[in-house]
Amino acid sequence: MNPEQKQYKTEWDLKLLYKDEKDPKIEQGLKLVESECDSFEKKYKDSDFTSSADELLKTLNDYEDLSKKAGEEKTSYYFYFRKDLNSEDNIAQAFSTKVSNRMTKATNKLVFIDIKLSKIPENKQKKYLKDKKLKKYWYFLEKIFKNAKHVLTEKEEQLVGLLSQTSYSMWVDGQEKLLTSQTVDYKGQKLPVQKALSMISELPKNDRRILHESLNKVFKSISHFAEAEINAVYNFKKVMDERRGFEKPYSATILGYENDEKNIEKMIETVTKNFKISQRFYKLHAKLLKEKKLSVSDRAVKIGEIKKKFNFETSVSIVGDIFHKMGKEYGEIFYRILKNGQTDVFPKKGKSGGAYCASSYNMPTFILLNHNDDIRSLETLAHEMGHAVHGERSKVQSIFYQGYSTATAEVASTFFEQVVLSEIEKYLSNDEKIILLHNKIMGDISTIFRQIACFNFELELHQRIRKEGQLSKEEIAKLLHKHLESYMGDAFSVTDDDGYFFVNWSHIRRFFYVYSYAYGQIVSRALFENWKKDKSYIKKIDQFLSAGGSMSPDEIFKKAGINTNDPKFFEAGLQSIEKDIEKLEKLSLKMK
Ligand SMILES: [Zn+2]
Repeated sequence: MNPEQKQYKTEWDLKLLYKDEKDPKIEQGLKLVESECDSFEKKYKDSDFTSSADELLKTLNDYEDLSKKAGEEKTSYYFYFRKDLNSEDNIAQAFSTKVSNRMTKATNKLVFIDIKLSKIPENKQKKYLKDKKLKKYWYFLEKIFKNAKHVLTEKEEQLVGLLSQTSYSMWVDGQEKLLTSQTVDYKGQKLPVQKALSMISELPKNDRRILHESLNKVFKSISHFAEAEINAVYNFKKVMDERRGFEKPYSATILGYENDEKNIEKMIETVTKNFKISQRFYKLHAKLLKEKKLSVSDRAVKIGEIKKKFNFETSVSIVGDIFHKMGKEYGEIFYRILKNGQTDVFPKKGKSGGAYCASSYNMPTFILLNHNDDIRSLETLAHEMGHAVHGERSKVQSIFYQGYSTATAEVASTFFEQVVLSEIEKYLSNDEKIILLHNKIMGDISTIFRQIACFNFELELHQRIRKEGQLSKEEIAKLLHKHLESYMGDAFSVTDDDGYFFVNWSHIRRFFYVYSYAYGQIVSRALFENWKKDKSYIKKIDQFLSAGGSMSPDEIFKKAGINTNDPKFFEAGLQSIEKDIEKLEKLSLKMK
C-alpha cells in the first residue's frame, strides 16, 4: 500500500450521515418510511399473498424493496452516535426518543407479514421451500417456518408485546435503576457499583478484598428486590414457553440464534465435563499470584503489567499491515474506515467508554474506540476492525441476509484479534510474553467456562422456579455459589455471599444468551489454528465473512471445514486451551 492510502482521521465525520439535526434529509427519510410502511400494510394486510408461490414471490420482492428504502433511513444511528460522542447533547437525546417512537409505530405495521407467513400450512411450507422460484428467499422462509409452531395468534402476539413491558422490561429496568443508584463504601469514598467492579482487579490484594466485601454487602442489601424481579421474569418466561410450546428453558434462545439444540446441548455437556481445565488454570493462577487460596475477587487479576506502549499511530501501522497481509481487501477496508472519518479514536469528556463497531445496510461502518496507548487498546482496534470486516464483507448479501446470528457475531472479531496478538509477541520482553499468555488464557476461561457455568446456573434456576414456584434470595445465592465453585475449583474459597452476584449479573436476564460466547470462541479458535497451519485457509474464512446471515451458523462453518455437529470438535477446542495452560506452566517456571 502506498503511504497516501495509509492516512487517517481520528474523529468521526457524522456528516457522512446528515449535515445536522436540521438537515431536511432527516424528515424526508422518516416520512418516506412511514408512508411506505403504511401503503405496504394497506396493500397486503388483507390480501391472500401466501396462496401461491407466484403471489408470495411478488410480495417478498416488494417487501425487499421496502426494506431497502427503509434501510436508507439512518436517523437513529446518527443521533445515537451523537449521544455517544457527547452525553450532554440534549438535542440528540430528544430527537432520538422521537425518532424511535415514530419508527416503532411505522414498522409495527409490518408485523403481520411474519405472522401470516407462519400460518402457512405445513404441507405448503414444504412445497414453497422446494420451489425454485423462491430460492432467493429460501433461508428467510425456512427460519420463519421453523419458528412457526411457536407463533401465537396476531391478537395474542400484540398482547404479549404490550405485557412484556410490565412483566419483563419494567422489572429488569427497575432492578438496574436500583443497582446504579447504589454506592460502595471504599476508603472513605462512595463509588458507583460499576466503577467499583471495573477497578477491583487492578487494586493491591488487601484493598481488593475490602472492596469485594463491600460490593457483596451492597448486592446483598438490595437482593430482596432482585429476588422479586428474578422470580417474576422467570415465571413470565415459564408461562410464555408453555404457551409457545418450547420444551426446555433454553429452546427459544437456541432457535432464535439459529443453532441446533442437540448440538448445543452436546457443547454444554462437553465444556461442563471439562471444568477440570479451568480448575487447573486457576491452580496455576493462584501459584502465580503466590496465594494458597484465592478469593473470588482475585479471579481476573493480572500477574504483571505489560509496559510496552502502543500509541495509535504505531497500532494502526502494526494492525493495518497484518490485515493487509491476511488479505488485500481487509487492508483496504481497514484504511478506508480510518481515512473517511469513520473511527473516533481517543477518550474525550462526555464520550461514552468502551468500544464498538456499528454496521448497517448501505451505511458507512462506524467504530468507536478509547485508545490509551496500551496493548489492550491495540487488541481492541484489531477486534473492532474484525467486526468491521465481517460487516463490510457481508454486504455482498441481499438486505435480508446482511445481519447475522448472535452465535457468529463475535467469531470474526476474536479471530482477527487472535491473529494480531500472535504477531505482537515479538515486540515484548520474555516476561511480558508470559503475562500476555496468562491474559489470553484468562480470557478464554471467562468466555468459555465461566459462561457455561452461568448457563448451568440459569438452567437450574429456571428448573427450580418452574418446579417450586419461587426461590428465595438465599436459595438463589446458594445456587450461584455452587455453580461458581463448579468451574473455579479448589483454588478458590467461594462463599454464599459471593452468590449474591446474581443481583448484578445482567446475562441471566437475557436467558441463555451466554452460550453464544462459548460457541463463538471455540469456533474462532479453530479458524485461527487452521489459518496458522495454512495461510491459504483465509479463502475459506472469507466465505464465512461474506456469508452474513444467509445460512445457519453450523452451515456457514461447515463450508469452512469446521464441523460443529461433531462433539469431538468442541473437545478439541478445549484441549487446545489445555495445551496453552501447559505452556504457561512451563514458561512461568522461568519467570523472573
Ligand atoms: Zn465484539
